[in-house]
Amino acid sequence: MRPAVFLDRDDTLIVNRELTLRPGERAGDMADPDRVQLLEGALDGCRWLKRAGFRLVIFSNQGIVARGGATLVDVDATNDRVCDLLRDEQGEPLIDAVYYCPFHPDGSVSGFSREHHWRKPAPGMIHQAVEDLGLDLARSWVVGDAPRDLDAGRHAGIDESRLILLDEQTPNLASAALRILSAIAPRERASLSLLAERPGALDDQRIAATVRSSAEALAERTGIRLLSVSIEDDRAEIELEGSEFVAVGFAAELRRLTNAWHRRQFDSSLWPAPAVEP
Ligand SMILES: [Mg+2]
Repeated sequence: MRPAVFLDRDDTLIVNRELTLRPGERAGDMADPDRVQLLEGALDGCRWLKRAGFRLVIFSNQGIVARGGATLVDVDATNDRVCDLLRDEQGEPLIDAVYYCPFHPDGSVSGFSREHHWRKPAPGMIHQAVEDLGLDLARSWVVGDAPRDLDAGRHAGIDESRLILLDEQTPNLASAALRILSAIAPRERASLSLLAERPGALDDQRIAATVRSSAEALAERTGIRLLSVSIEDDRAEIELEGSEFVAVGFAAELRRLTNAWHRRQFDSSLWPAPAVEP
């Protein structure tokens, strides 16, 4: 039996609250495949988790159906679009299953206007996925941006330490994935190395200090133990406790964070685009 990561959809995998509302739309409602936009870190996070052996299951409340804002067909099309965007490097789909709850007690559409055991914070969708996919619930995790996502996992009996809320500490799925990988990794020594795009870039003390402090902050946020950080010549070499999976993810996140800072400061990238990952 394989463990799963249960992933909320809106504002965990795709942009929702930042979307401009259309006339008649309620905040949070989104059932249009053309407006699906992956959040930063969503694709990387899914790829790392899948590579580490997790099944990936989306579970989403879609009370919009009960309120008459969209049909099941609309929601299915939107979910299909999300799954279509989440693929591995070979083009294989990453998401194993999608569950959503179209019911809502305050709805207006007959047949859907009631409470339902699938509606988060109830654990119905998790139970169904465990039954359908034969999942190892004791080793499974939940990632979501709302307390009800975590409550659903809690009610299903998933340990508190495996419920991850996206917030300032864990701002996106890539960070959440790093936390998960770090928690399950054997305590081995793993290393990573980043080579600056422009020779001499790391001689600038401010840049070197930012790389160092970003690595320390990322480690702190994700529960990864750094063993050493050395910045010499044009290279940042980092040793950490974890696995190769963790090192690959850590390198990608550190590259993203420090590139974003460098672009704001100097209008250029610090590191080149990543080479193909193993
Ligand atoms: Mg959400």
